[in-house]
Amino acid sequence: MIAKMTNNGRLKISEEALIRMNQYKQDSNEKFEAGGVVLGRFIKDFKDVIVDRITVPMIGDVRGRTFFIRGEKRHQQVITNAWIKSNGTCNYLGEWHTHPESYPTPSGQDIKNWKEILSTRTFSSLYLYFIIVGTHQVRIWEGNRKTGKIKRLYR
Ligand SMILES: [Zn+2]
Repeated sequence: MIAKMTNNGRLKISEEALIRMNQYKQDSNEKFEAGGVVLGRFIKDFKDVIVDRITVPMIGDVRGRTFFIRGEKRHQQVITNAWIKSNGTCNYLGEWHTHPESYPTPSGQDIKNWKEILSTRTFSSLYLYFIIVGTHQVRIWEGNRKTGKIKRLYR
């Protein structure tokens, strides 16, 4: 899956990451929200971004039918290990979670969380990416660290 970013570069989500996220798609009433962090690489001087891998729900997360609160410690461990093992090329790129709706839109709480992450987290690029996996569509938003603005990306 490829989306066009504000800087005219392209964001590519690897097939593997997409398949993994879709495994948590809330396509039945019993399935709780899921989520995790998004990891990957910058290429061509930060212009293009590739999402290589994601984390999936772990102990420490709080999950319900319409909410997902990611725990910090275990996901952070994965981020740190990936960064070290890749010699600093595999970076934290953002967050993903599922919604029990066909064409997902961020809730007020999502926007609030994303803005908080943009303003408090240390990361190497100007942008972070926020993915919501709906039952029929996966959508991506781009957050700007400087302006705090969040905008949807299209294919
Ligand atoms: Zn949400």
